[in-house]
Amino acid sequence: MAEGHVITVTGPRSADSLGVVDAHEHLLLESPALAGHGFADVGKAIEEVLDGRATGIGTIVEMTPIGLGRQPAGLRAVAEATGVAIVAATGYHRDAHYPPGHWVHEATVETLADRVVTDLRDGMHPADWLDPSLPLDPARAGAIKGGASYHRVSRGERRRLEAIGGAGRATGAAMLVHSEVGTAAHEIVDALEAAGARPDRIAIAHLDRNPDAELHAEIAARGVTLEYDTVGRAKYHPDSTLLDLIEAVAAAGHLEQIVLGLDLGRRDYFRAYDGGPGLRYLMTAFAPRLRRRLGEEAANLILVTNPARLYALPDAERPGS
Ligand SMILES: [Zn+2]
Repeated sequence: MAEGHVITVTGPRSADSLGVVDAHEHLLLESPALAGHGFADVGKAIEEVLDGRATGIGTIVEMTPIGLGRQPAGLRAVAEATGVAIVAATGYHRDAHYPPGHWVHEATVETLADRVVTDLRDGMHPADWLDPSLPLDPARAGAIKGGASYHRVSRGERRRLEAIGGAGRATGAAMLVHSEVGTAAHEIVDALEAAGARPDRIAIAHLDRNPDAELHAEIAARGVTLEYDTVGRAKYHPDSTLLDLIEAVAAAGHLEQIVLGLDLGRRDYFRAYDGGPGLRYLMTAFAPRLRRRLGEEAANLILVTNPARLYALPDAERPGS
């Protein structure tokens, strides 16, 4: 059982009521780095989430950060139409997603951090902070995204990680950081810790792109969560490789530090856009194999308890309670 509550786009929810959590997903996204592959149709997102819900998904952590076409009102509409809890994100991605001239390049670390804290505490900016005078959306963000490049943390990424680490420390929100092909994880954790972030609030995404169980056990030994999301990505490796990796990392003593997502970051990954594998893949194709390989109890930790604990805030920090 996970304690505390998570902030969803329709309000706080008890962490033990989330059900199966897809711990890293995208429902509405547009980025210059993904030109032609974006997806911003609320109706299609509703269709896809209903299909995922029918397979048993209870909560989706939508990790689209500032600058990638985040739509707080759209996410509220999806949550309301489907009954699936949606946790939205604030924070920043790696350099490739911000064109020259984007405000994140010039903003001070203080401004970068303040905007993240505002998204978390007061409500998300409706237009990625492009026009700071716009009123905030009623939906608060519930998690913080970060990002680094391939085998390096650039100067701009380091500034944004510093801002995110400070915002994470100030709010208690979880930080999920994109690692490019699973690289630079230690450097990412170093940068966040230097900014005051606690390791149990940090998760590293995409580590399974480099399915090296020894390296992952070393990273997990620092107290951070490993977020795997190559489920169904046969173009990278078969699901059996991911199952082997999970089994090895669990055997090394880190079962409670593994969470899973599909990270469907392109239009043609969604069934609603006539693509695949779609949101249903996690529970229809992968979860049965995970249960057979690790047993029911371990699979439930990975699908339900671990992500609830990662994204939960202590109830004492709930405003007004
Ligand atoms: Zn993602």
